[in-house]
Amino acid sequence: MKTVKELYHQKVLVLGLAKSGTAAAEMLHELGAFVTVNDSKPFEENTQAQELLKQGMTVICGSHPENLLDEGFSLIVKNPGIPYNNPVLQEAIKREIPIWTEIELAYRISEAPMIGITGSNGKTTTTTLLCEMLEKGPLEPLVAGNIGTVATTVAKDATKNNVIVTELSSFQLMGTVKLKPSIAIITNIYEAHLDYHTDLDEYIEAKLAIAKNQTEQDLLIYNAEQPLLAQRVKSLNATPVPFFVSSRQSEGISADAEWVYWKGEALYKRDEIRLPGKHNLENVLAATAAALLVGAPLEQIRATVASFAGVKHRTQYAGEWQGRLFYNDSKATNALATKSALEGFSRPVILLAGGKERNHSFDELIPYLPTIKAICHFGETAPRLQQFAELHNVQAYSFPTLTAAFEKSIELSEPNDVLLLSPASASWDQYESFEIRGDEFLRLFKDLETKG
Ligand code: ADP
Repeated sequence: MKTVKELYHQKVLVLGLAKSGTAAAEMLHELGAFVTVNDSKPFEENTQAQELLKQGMTVICGSHPENLLDEGFSLIVKNPGIPYNNPVLQEAIKREIPIWTEIELAYRISEAPMIGITGSNGKTTTTTLLCEMLEKGPLEPLVAGNIGTVATTVAKDATKNNVIVTELSSFQLMGTVKLKPSIAIITNIYEAHLDYHTDLDEYIEAKLAIAKNQTEQDLLIYNAEQPLLAQRVKSLNATPVPFFVSSRQSEGISADAEWVYWKGEALYKRDEIRLPGKHNLENVLAATAAALLVGAPLEQIRATVASFAGVKHRTQYAGEWQGRLFYNDSKATNALATKSALEGFSRPVILLAGGKERNHSFDELIPYLPTIKAICHFGETAPRLQQFAELHNVQAYSFPTLTAAFEKSIELSEPNDVLLLSPASASWDQYESFEIRGDEFLRLFKDLETKG
């Protein structure tokens, strides 16, 4: 681990605990900073805060007091989920106190190079695929962040023989200063997260922050079929590695109907790829390019694309029951992700959808409605989904819960149908997370299998 001298004896505020805040506070403490942590959960219920207090940190719990900043902090490390319109952060911005997210700290202490993956959709799939491809390569991959261990904890033990592979949400990227991945990947940029970011420009800017410190020694793998993104990449310093999913190209990585090409040379056949859909081809091409650039053997890359059947809750094949195929795509929390899932199916689909209302449009689904036999919907967005379905002459049924919607979908189904949970809505109206929602679907499927 590298030591970061400039943090020694500095007063640092860690805002928001959870796993990453706790790891950041412990690391800052280890680096000799004077750490104060502030978390909204009351002290009596806050085991993490109690632990940090024991270690000698100052702990303020239960609220974010207005005079919090009067201590005179020289740095704030905030949880990525806390928006910048939070009053403490607004005040910090006025006082010109730097605000990091935990990934910046991880980057500063890491001895290993970093591959950072961002984009509106496909981050987890690309990250997981890439780690598997790198397994027999010259650098041992360590996955950090959302799907792995907290980045700071990973970075602490990483050496030059490792490569840290991490997905970076735009929330995390907004809090980076010096972070510079050796390889950055931008899978795509869509207008999906606008309730947090104030506008599309700010959102694109936040994604491009992944490359802001890159120099020409660093590589930026990006979706060259998105004109806005391709245009913006031109003004960056990184060496661009474009990917194209629609036609063979002489540069970067590309695919036509038959083959995948690296700089125009055939690499492997399209039908070797197990993951369905054009959206997954983006992920496969991006991961393949990064793996090749790190020096992973082509055989391992091919073996991975041939065996990789998807990440849990992401168009995950659950199994077959009486000729019907069941897929769990609980991670599809917006219409765009649901659209991608629908794109992968040519059979009739009964769609289970609905969840937290964030007032996003469902219009992305319109081109795929002819493949939908019926929509069984549930949760807060159910009334809007009903309206949407009626407007486009699709059969639709409203239910209070996923369980009730699932039962109806079975009743409506016939052999050869696909039963797809792909909610086009977040889960928080009825579930703590999309994982718990997906697990419920998997359990409903298992019950059905057991009944026979
Ligand atoms: P993220 O980590 O960016 O949220 P995931 O890999 O977890 O992305 O995939 C989330 C959902 O988005 C999947 O269920 C799938 O339906 C859809 N998806 C995955 N990759 C892409 C892509 N490259 N383009 C569009 N949609 C995608």
